[in-house]
Amino acid sequence: MATATLTIDLDAIANNWRAMDRLSGQGVQTGAVVKADAYGLGVPRVARALAQAGARRFFVAASEEGAAVRQALGPGPQINVLSGHMAGDTDMIADLDLTPMLNSLEQITRHLEALPGHAFGVQLDTGMNRLGIEMLEWQAVAPILLEAGPVMLMSHLACADEPDHPMNLLQLEAFHEMTDGTGIPRSLAATGGIMLGPKYHFDLTRPGIGLYGGRPFDTAQRVVSLSLPIIQTREVQPGEAVGYSCAWEAEQQSIVATLQAGYADGLLRSLSNKAMLWDRETPCPLIGRVSMDMITADITHLSEMPKSLDILGPHQTLDELADAAGTISYELLTGMGARYLRRYLEARN
Ligand SMILES: *Cc1c(COP(=O)(O)O)cnc(C)c1O
Repeated sequence: MATATLTIDLDAIANNWRAMDRLSGQGVQTGAVVKADAYGLGVPRVARALAQAGARRFFVAASEEGAAVRQALGPGPQINVLSGHMAGDTDMIADLDLTPMLNSLEQITRHLEALPGHAFGVQLDTGMNRLGIEMLEWQAVAPILLEAGPVMLMSHLACADEPDHPMNLLQLEAFHEMTDGTGIPRSLAATGGIMLGPKYHFDLTRPGIGLYGGRPFDTAQRVVSLSLPIIQTREVQPGEAVGYSCAWEAEQQSIVATLQAGYADGLLRSLSNKAMLWDRETPCPLIGRVSMDMITADITHLSEMPKSLDILGPHQTLDELADAAGTISYELLTGMGARYLRRYLEARN
């Protein structure tokens, strides 16, 4: 393979959705978050695989992303836009039947005036202070807005990946206070919230990262593998250095492989001298600086020259690579570069 290849297992995504659906519990719907091009994995294929698994309610960050999901899925599934009804988006929301989650009085006014009768939800701020209507505003506007029949009231947890964080209960209480007795379907939990247990699930859950194999859903099936072709190998002598800033120096006679992919492909520069690559079962340390288009690995101990090495696979998960880079799986996934060949695995049925 002459190109760095990102393999995306659509069956694993479907299985992860089913597992999140089981965890969400009986009588609770399970949505699917496919913002940022399905966390960098390609929204057309991923959204179709999720719809086939049974997902009916999708979440995206912006209307343009909603348009891509609608194009992939056709009419039917509900596509919710987390940024709400932004100025200039009215036609797209109407024509493609998107459901904006209204975040402010300004958005409420815009939506009810421009598209009366068109489906909408409401995002409430329960303490994250990022998006949504706050308690006092909500108390003022709720009587009118509930009359217009929102399809959902939702909020988002700031610290759900830390089960013992006091913020979780505070936000849960605020959400109850703002929504109890409304009779409108409610949604609070993303992946982390699903793991917190049933009292966080309400009527609809919104998993994202769990579908794609990342923490905190620890029993997720692995979704991505990344294999990098070796462009060239060379022998270096003790005392010789490799790459920019001579950041790695050979202590013994070594064989260095240069591989095709670098920080322009999302292999963060913070992986310099840190990550591991794998020749099947054998680890090969990434050595020296990550360059824009290349990385280097120490393959001295291999008995045969491989054509490629894996940087994501059975021996190094997304979270492990993210840890090595000092970041989180979300950033690594969404930063996967456009130059990778994307190969989708899907059982034929
Ligand atoms: C991104 C996002 C999600 C999904 O979160 P994960 O942690 O990836 O499961 C759910 N809800 C909202 C509002 C989001 O922004």
